[in-house]
Amino acid sequence: MAAAGSGSDNPVVSLLEAALGDAVSRDDAALAAAREDKSGHVSGSAPLVVVTPRTIADVQTVMRIASETRTPVVVRGAGTGLAGGAIASAGEIVLSMLAMNRLLEVSRDDELAVVEPGIINADLNEQLAPHGLWFAPDPASRAISTVGGNIATNAGGLLCAKYGVTREAILGLKVVLADGRLIELGHRTVKGVTGLDFTALMIGSEGTLGVVVEATLRTRRLVPGLVATISASFETVEDAARASAVITASGLGPAIMELIGDSAMRHIADHLGLEHPGGSQLIVQFDGPGAETEANAAIASIRSLGGVAELSTDRAEGERLFAIRRSFHASIAELGTVLIEDVCVPRSALPAMFAAIGEIERRYGIEIPTVAHAGDGNLHPNFVFEGPEVPDFIWSAADEMFLAALRLGGTLTGEHGIGLLKRRWLRDELGDDQLDLQQRVKQVFDPLGILNPGKVFGP
Ligand SMILES: Cc1cc2nc3c(=O)[nH]c(=O)nc-3n(C[C@H](O)[C@H](O)[C@H](O)COP(=O)(O)OP(=O)(O)OC[C@H]3O[C@@H](n4cnc5c(N)ncnc54)[C@H](O)[C@@H]3O)c2cc1C
Repeated sequence: MAAAGSGSDNPVVSLLEAALGDAVSRDDAALAAAREDKSGHVSGSAPLVVVTPRTIADVQTVMRIASETRTPVVVRGAGTGLAGGAIASAGEIVLSMLAMNRLLEVSRDDELAVVEPGIINADLNEQLAPHGLWFAPDPASRAISTVGGNIATNAGGLLCAKYGVTREAILGLKVVLADGRLIELGHRTVKGVTGLDFTALMIGSEGTLGVVVEATLRTRRLVPGLVATISASFETVEDAARASAVITASGLGPAIMELIGDSAMRHIADHLGLEHPGGSQLIVQFDGPGAETEANAAIASIRSLGGVAELSTDRAEGERLFAIRRSFHASIAELGTVLIEDVCVPRSALPAMFAAIGEIERRYGIEIPTVAHAGDGNLHPNFVFEGPEVPDFIWSAADEMFLAALRLGGTLTGEHGIGLLKRRWLRDELGDDQLDLQQRVKQVFDPLGILNPGKVFGP
């Protein structure tokens, strides 16, 4: 339980201020900002305090004070999460990792980099480029999200069909535990199987098991040669989904394959002032030595399924097309409050999942603008409504959508995490036995229940 009192008369704040000085803030704007992330959800009250540590020792101090006083801690990167995971409320310490943002080491020989967690994904890649290296996980939020947040959510992105999600790019982690102890997980080697894989456990744990304070990243050599980008349009979204499933099934290996449904494309076009003649878009990019050959094979599949396709080998044109895709969230946010969903299905089931979404749209009389990382089978159907609370009919439409995804062999979140917003479906997917085991693991790491309470596992 948090200690009584609020503000500077609060004993927890006094302890933090005595230990960490100006790293501790009660600034109204900072407290207000920590009540929300990009999920559209806002907590009912401001947190107790925001602490911005500069060193691992600072984080340990915060966690020791939190443990001694039993004060909940919400770790926060850039607050771009879409599941409500970094949202804090009354009595909670917000641990903002943004000041721990250095690239500590680069080894081209071992293809790794060591970073602090607050480094922004795109900044990291800018700093790695002169070494001929890059960090592959590329959430559409790469310009604004932290690597620590990417790790804590096991973020995916546009390139993960070919280059893997964040999990595939992490060799080791330093983690501060709930009681302030520091542990080192994983390794700097390509292989390493000593003991249980706690690195994997920590990736995607959404701030519920420990604070990631340093990460050893697996980097890759920059891919030489041209990129070949296809922009294809289809009359129906099912056709576009079918084309993406055929491209995957044919063994071609696109680096990126993004699908933009008709209504999603219409809203993006309105937002950017572009023309949209109607229909759904598939944007497919190949890289590496065989890029153009593979792209031509994909175009043949697209045309055989009724798509109209154009090929470009201009890198800037490819970037322009993906920038259109990346503006989807901004275009939908203009329309009202948004519940952004994140189901993922086996790639062959993508057409069936789009058909299920179309059926839900018809039955509920609503529009569900949807984009998909089609190369991964990961869809982002968006529900738009008015006001701060999700209306019951939207919850039941979302409910049907999750059940459809599970029936198709899928999962309720491909990359955004559970946070606050998907807790209601956790048991449906995990089942009683696994949920019980996961809750007990959480208790082992966090016996006092002070790490991001209420997130993922519920109150
Ligand atoms: C426009 C837009 C596009 C997006 N596109 C994608 C996408 O393509 N793919 C994707 O996966 N996501 C996407 N996201 C969601 C979001 O950007 C990711 O989840 C991202 O990884 C969150 O990083 P963050 O630094 O903002 O973390 P936050 O939102 O601050 O935190 C997210 C979670 O991680 C925990 N956390 C943060 N840092 C640490 C740490 N150091 N130690 C322990 N726990 C920590 C928090 O407690 C919280 O539970 C998008 C978001 C936006 C707004």
